[in-house]
Amino acid sequence: MADITDVIYLDNNATTRVAPEVVEAMMPAFGPLYGNASSMHTFGGQMGRYIHAAREQVAGILNADPEEIIFTSCGSESDNSAWYSATETQPEKRHVITTKVEHSAVLAYGHYLEDKGYEVTWLGVDDKGRLDLEELDRAIRPDTALVSLMYANNETGTIFPIEEVAGIVKSHGVQLHVDAVQAVGKEVIDLRKLPIDYLALSGHKLHAPKGIGALYVRRGTRFRPYLKGGHQERGRRAGTENVPYIIGIGKACELAASNLEKERTQVSALRDRLQAGIVSAIPHCKVNGDQEHRLPNTLNISFEAVEGEALLLQLDQYGICASSGSACTSGSLEPSHVLRAMGVPFTYAHGSVRFSLSRYNTEAEIDRVIEVMPQIVSELRKISPFASFLKK
Ligand code: PLP
Repeated sequence: MADITDVIYLDNNATTRVAPEVVEAMMPAFGPLYGNASSMHTFGGQMGRYIHAAREQVAGILNADPEEIIFTSCGSESDNSAWYSATETQPEKRHVITTKVEHSAVLAYGHYLEDKGYEVTWLGVDDKGRLDLEELDRAIRPDTALVSLMYANNETGTIFPIEEVAGIVKSHGVQLHVDAVQAVGKEVIDLRKLPIDYLALSGHKLHAPKGIGALYVRRGTRFRPYLKGGHQERGRRAGTENVPYIIGIGKACELAASNLEKERTQVSALRDRLQAGIVSAIPHCKVNGDQEHRLPNTLNISFEAVEGEALLLQLDQYGICASSGSACTSGSLEPSHVLRAMGVPFTYAHGSVRFSLSRYNTEAEIDRVIEVMPQIVSELRKISPFASFLKK
C-alpha cells in the first residue's frame, strides 16, 4: 500500500483537494476574523465585506449578478432548495420532470414528491447517456412546476445540451433547475445567455472545502427559503454565515474562472492519454458515455468479465484512487442507476471504473496507471466467473 501522502488521486468527481490558494484565503477567518456578519458592531459587521467579495467571485464564474447567488451548505442543499422553492411557490402545479440519471440529491427529492402525490416524469437516456429532446418537449404539461436536469453526469461526464433544453423548457414558460455541481469550474457557463431559473453548485468539487455550496436564483424568480430562521442571505437561507468557507468557495471560483481554458486543455489531454493507454493495452473494454460531449476530466470505462470493486481494491494497493459504477445493495453488486439507464450490458456494467482527474494530476501519474492496469485486469479475468463471456 502506497504512503497516504503519495496517492495517485483520480477520484475528483467524488471530491477534490482544497487548493492551497483557497486555504490561504480562508485562514484569517479561522483566526482573527471570527465575527458574526449579522452583528451590529463593526468587528462582526466587517465580515459582510468578505461575503460580498465571495458572492461576486461565485457570480463571476457564472456571469450572474451577485444578488442572484445564495450560499448554502452543499450541492444537495442547493438542489433540494430549488425543488422546494419551485413547488412551494406554484402549489397548483403537481408535475415535475427530471431524468433517471440524476444524482441522488435530485432523485430522492423526486421520490419524496411522488410520496406526497406529485407526478414525476423520469426521462430516460440512450446508450451514450444522451437525452431525447423531443421526449422532453412532449413531457411538459400545463401543470409542470419544474424541469430539473443535470448539466453533466457525475459518473460518465456526459454533458446534456443545456442551451437546447432551456430553449424548449422556456418555450413552455416552465421553470428550469440545473444541477451543475460537476460542471462549474470545468465548463463555461454564461447565465446571461442561458435562461435557467435555478442552478446548483458545490465547493468541494472545485477545490474549495466540503460543506459549502451555492444556489443561483434568477432575479424575478419567486423564491421560498428551504431553511427557515434568521434573515441571512436576504431572508433566502437562514443560518449564521460560514464565513471561512464562503471565502473559500469564492476564491475557488475565481481560480477556476481565471484558468478554465488552460485547465480544460491540460486535464483533457491527460484524460485522453489515460483512455488511449488503457484501450490500446486491454482487450474487451468499453468507454461509457458521450465522448463528444463529456467533461474534460472524466473517463468511465467498463472491463468485460471483471468485478469493478475488485479492480478498485487492486488499484488501491498501488495507491491509485478511483471509483466504481456499482453500488453494493443487499449483498449483491448492482450496476449503478446511470449505467443501467444507459443499458450497458451486464457483463460490462459490473466492471466499470470511473477515473476523474484534476489540475493536480501529472503525466507521470497517468503513465503509472496505464502501466499497472493491464496486469490487474488480466489477473482478475483469470478468476472471473464470467471469463467464458470473453470472445477470443
Ligand atoms: N449533484 C451532483 C451531480 C453531484 O455529483 C453531487 C455530488 O457528488 C451532488 C449533486 C451533491 O453535492 P454535495 O456533495 O455538495 O452535496
